[in-house]
Parts: sequence; structure tokens; C-alpha cells
Amino acid sequence: MSEISKQPYEQETLGHPTGLFYLFFAELWERFSFYGMRALLMLYMVNEIFKALTERDVAAAAVYASYGSLVYASTVIGGRISDKILGMRSSIFLGGILMAIGHFVLAIENNIAFFLALSFIIVGNGFFKPNISTFVGSLYKDGDRRKDSGFTIFYMGINIGGFVAPLLCGWLAAEYGWHYGFGLAGIGMLTGLIFFWSGIRKNVFGDRGLPPSREIYEKKILGIPQKTLVPMVAFLATPLVALLLSSYKSLGSEDSFLADKNYVNILFYLIGIAVIIYLSIIIYNSKPDERKKLFMAVLITFFMTLFWGFHELSGSVITLFADRNVNLDGIMNASQTNSLNSLVIIILSIPISLLWAYLSKRNLNPRTPYKFGLGLVLAGLSFYILSLSGGSADANGMVPFAYLIIMYFVLSIGELFMSPVGLSKITDLSPKRIVAFMMGIWFLSSAYAFQIVGFISKQLAIESTDVNVGGLDTLQVYIDGFSLIAKYSLGVGLIVLLFSPLMKKLMGNVH
Ligand code: GLN
Repeated sequence: MSEISKQPYEQETLGHPTGLFYLFFAELWERFSFYGMRALLMLYMVNEIFKALTERDVAAAAVYASYGSLVYASTVIGGRISDKILGMRSSIFLGGILMAIGHFVLAIENNIAFFLALSFIIVGNGFFKPNISTFVGSLYKDGDRRKDSGFTIFYMGINIGGFVAPLLCGWLAAEYGWHYGFGLAGIGMLTGLIFFWSGIRKNVFGDRGLPPSREIYEKKILGIPQKTLVPMVAFLATPLVALLLSSYKSLGSEDSFLADKNYVNILFYLIGIAVIIYLSIIIYNSKPDERKKLFMAVLITFFMTLFWGFHELSGSVITLFADRNVNLDGIMNASQTNSLNSLVIIILSIPISLLWAYLSKRNLNPRTPYKFGLGLVLAGLSFYILSLSGGSADANGMVPFAYLIIMYFVLSIGELFMSPVGLSKITDLSPKRIVAFMMGIWFLSSAYAFQIVGFISKQLAIESTDVNVGGLDTLQVYIDGFSLIAKYSLGVGLIVLLFSPLMKKLMGNVH
């Protein structure tokens, strides 16, 4: 059949279903909004929202951690509601609209608006992020070999957004004010939705992403059809989430279990216990060969949690370090340094996936546990490099920019060893009947990572109300912190490498 006589949803562009490129641009712009905002978030909290507090770093760390944990945990709920009721299309629209509202509300200068805005982004991301990723998968038939490269292209889109946004939003925030930066993030999100909508109009998705059952979609509860009820509940949930976020103070006095813990921390303890019990039951009830693989799926998710726990410090402690202790030489401001991670991913993701293919042909492609061990070692190495920067600090306690660049370079290679590999291994290691649930658990790894980020960021908090704090006053705190993180990450990475031969066996035929 010639390309012309094919329906739009059967046509291909660059060897992939044409729909991929609409999803690519939709996700590119959504991540533009997400990472543009994230680049500003910590500095905005420290310098605006909490500027009057001596403990402003601690407060900002707590809110950053709660935001990050909830923004990823909500994907588990959003994915489930999509599977059961809404379908991917409606979920993506609902999520995108909520996120855009969030970014625009951030442009309002007011503390209540601030917490409400973050909660719109949390609920919105829950509907958007898991569904756009599953949508990509749905474009390919089972066993289609182009799927992996489709995901690599998609990951590039994510990182093009993640690269450009901090540069533009960071520039706008510095030149014209924070709220212009946040406003641009909102425009980015709307642009993403327009791309998605035009894909639907041009019929490039065929019947993919429609509600799983019209009957359930239209079914009335309390006289309201579910298709309307879900968005209503989503909107009504936002003030509650905002309330959770704004209760960032610790619940207990020093030395008690509750010291350093707020409601969100407690919530994640409880979810964690429930998930562990539930997973143990699932593993216990599985067939023996499934059991080993599932155990490995849980284990690599745990390693990924640790890695993101160090990696996601980029938006918090490392941005503050860049602001207070790095000689950026007028090349960029501290928010803009957030684009470095994505830049390296854009440059290296294709060469690294080609490297795996090259090694595969020679039977030398390392098995997954080795890649994960190496990823954690690389994370450790990157923080070690950053800790060395202290030795090159000038008389004002400012370190050369090159250390930060090299640090991001090494850390991002670690990311490429783990994140895209893990994503596909989860689908290979989980029995088909629970693969969507295991994907949810995979996203929870990012949620828990932010609990680690919160803990570390609080340890490295500087007490001061001086907006210009930095230099010699803060250098040693950061350097000591980075060297401790390096030791932990290197230690865990080496342990993983040590046990890799054993883990390899548990994975059976999965590479
Ligand atoms: N950078 C990737 C993204 O934004 C992965 C983030 C994560 O899972 N923590 O999609």
C-alpha cells in the first residue's frame, strides 16, 4: 500500500509511526514547563517565599521534597484512573490543563497562590506523565523492534525541553522577574497541548487512547457521569494537596521520631509499608520463575530510587551551591545550570544506545545489574568531583564552573546506564498481568527519591536570612556534604557490582 492511500494513523515518518512525533512535541513542551519551573523553584522559595526565615533553606528543602514526592506519586493514581475510566487522551488533556493552570497561578505573587499552584502541577502531572509514556508504547505492536528506538527518540524530546527551559525561564526570571519565568513555563505547557490536539485532529493516533469502555466513561455516580466526575474531583483535590504542602514544618521536637518529619513524610512512610507488604504478597503468590524476576524488578527499582535520590539534588542543593559557590563567569545564572544534565543526555543518548548495540553483537553487552552498579559508581564519582572543587576555590570561596560541568557530564552518563535500561527491564521482568502496576512502582522510585533529597538538603541547609549568603560562609558545608554523598553512592555501587553475578542468575533469560 502506498503512503498516500494509508490512513494518517498508519503512516510513518522517519521509519516510526507519525503519531510518535506529535507525542514527542507534546512531551517536549510539557517537560519544558516542568523543568523550567523546577529550575526556578528552589531559588524562588529561598529568596522570596521563605526569605524572612533564618531556616529558609530547611523550609524550602521540605517543600521541594514534598512537591517532588507527590508529583511522581500522583502518576500511580493518574495511570490507574486512565486504565479504568478516562483513557489516555482525556487523561493527557486533563493533566495538561491542570499543569498549565498551575504554572499560570505561580505567576501570581502570593504565598497561598504558590502552594495552590504546586498542587495543580502535582495533580496534573499525575494524569499527564504516565499516560503520554504509555501512549508511545501503544503506537507499536507487541514485539515491534522499533519500540526501543521510539523510546530513545521520546527521551530526547524530554531532554530538549529540559535543556531549553532552564535557559529561557532562568533568563526571564533574572531579567524581568520570577513570574515571567513561571508564565513562560505555562505557555510551554499550552503549546504541548496544542501539539497533542493537532495530532488527534489529523487522526494520527487512530483509535488509540480512547476510554477503555464507553459505558464506564459515561456511567453516572451521584447523577454525574464519571467523565465529568473525575475532572471535578481532580480540581477539588488541589486545595487538599496544597494544605499538605504548606504544612512543611516538623511535627515533633528534637530527638523524637517525628523530629524532621512533616505530614508528607509520614504519608510516605505509610505508603512505603503498604507497598512492601503488597509486593511481598504478590511475589509470594507468583510461580517460582516469576518470583525471582519480580524480586529483581523490585531490587532494580530500589537502586534507581537511590540514584534519583542523589541525581534530583540538582534542582535543590546543587542549584543553591551553583548560586552561592560557583564562579559562573557570567556564562549562565544558577537556575540555568539545570540545563546541563539534559544537554549531556541529548549528546550521549544515541551514542550510548549504539554502544549497547555494538557490544551486543560481540556478546559483550553488560547485563543489567552491572549497568546499575556502574551507574551508582558514576553518581558517586560525580559527587566526588564536585567535592574536589573546594581545593580550587578562590579567596572568596568560589569554585571554578568546570567542576560543575564535569560533574553533570559524569552523572548524566550514570543516568543513561540506568534510567532507559530500567524502564524496558521492568516490562521484561514483570508478568504481563501486573506490568502496569509495576510501572507505577517504578515511578514511585522517583517519589521516594525526593524523600532522600529532602533529608540530604536539610542536612546541607545554611541558616541565614542574608539573600547574598555564600562564598566562604557556605563552601565547607557543601563540600563535606558532597564528599559524604560520594562515599555512600560509590559504596552502594560497589556492593551492587559485587553481587551482580548472583543477581544476573535471578534474572534468568532477561538480559
Ligand atoms: N528526566 C526524566 C523525565 O523527566 C526522568 C525523571 C524521573 O523519572 N525522575 O522524564
